[in-house]
Amino acid sequence: MGLREPWIEHFFVGPLQMRCSVVTDPATGDTIIIDGGDEPQRIIDWIDAFEGPGPNWTTGPENASAAQERALPRRRVVALVNTHAHFDHSGFIPALREHYDVEWYLHPDDDFLQTLAQASGRRYGLALPEPAVADQAFEAGKTYRFGTLELRVLHTPGHTLGGCCLLVQVENGPDHVFVGDTLFAGSVGRTDIANSGGDFDLLARSIHTQLWPLDEDTIVHPGHGPLTTVGHEKRTNPFVGEPAGAGGTYGFGKYA
Ligand SMILES: [Zn+2]
Ligand SMILES: [Zn+2]
Repeated sequence: MGLREPWIEHFFVGPLQMRCSVVTDPATGDTIIIDGGDEPQRIIDWIDAFEGPGPNWTTGPENASAAQERALPRRRVVALVNTHAHFDHSGFIPALREHYDVEWYLHPDDDFLQTLAQASGRRYGLALPEPAVADQAFEAGKTYRFGTLELRVLHTPGHTLGGCCLLVQVENGPDHVFVGDTLFAGSVGRTDIANSGGDFDLLARSIHTQLWPLDEDTIVHPGHGPLTTVGHEKRTNPFVGEPAGAGGTYGFGKYA
């Protein structure tokens, strides 16, 4: 089971250029927003009316008339979901939740971290709204249905305690996995960020047990930087791939 061909858009938002992903079932218009960390109005304007600067990367139409030509339905946001609770990923959930009136899903091991969003943002000189409290708790290994979309939650602690990778399976492949700051092209998430429960050994184990078993051609959508694939990282990643050996090679990684 899976989607035919998902319509995916990426918006690099905020000062840390965090990847907010918008995933739509083109057959129904059902849509989820992954990691609504910043620039909520830009994301809303594009989803609702194809107005404004739009995404940095898309597999979908470039404007409203192109969407009409392809007979794409109007998008209906059915849920907000997060890979983890660092402020660059979750700081502007309140604005998206208010506009779309849908529930927000987060793994409960990041609930405490989420309460610190404003303080963390201040360290970067950012004024954030009162942090959102999750409406629903993600459970490890469970598959969630959001309208006609399905998302499997892989709990991958190590960058944060409640960090998750979110898998969208596609009928004729490749699948897509949204990994937040767990894995990057050629790197891994930092494990030294305050109050996050970062732990390199745990991160390496999460990646080895949850991500490496996925199909090699699975497209990896990290929270920062370029796309990659499971197979490419497995073979070449210097921290957790084959060059690092069974336990991984400790490093601070990059990105918050
Ligand atoms: Zn991040
Ligand atoms: Zn992070």
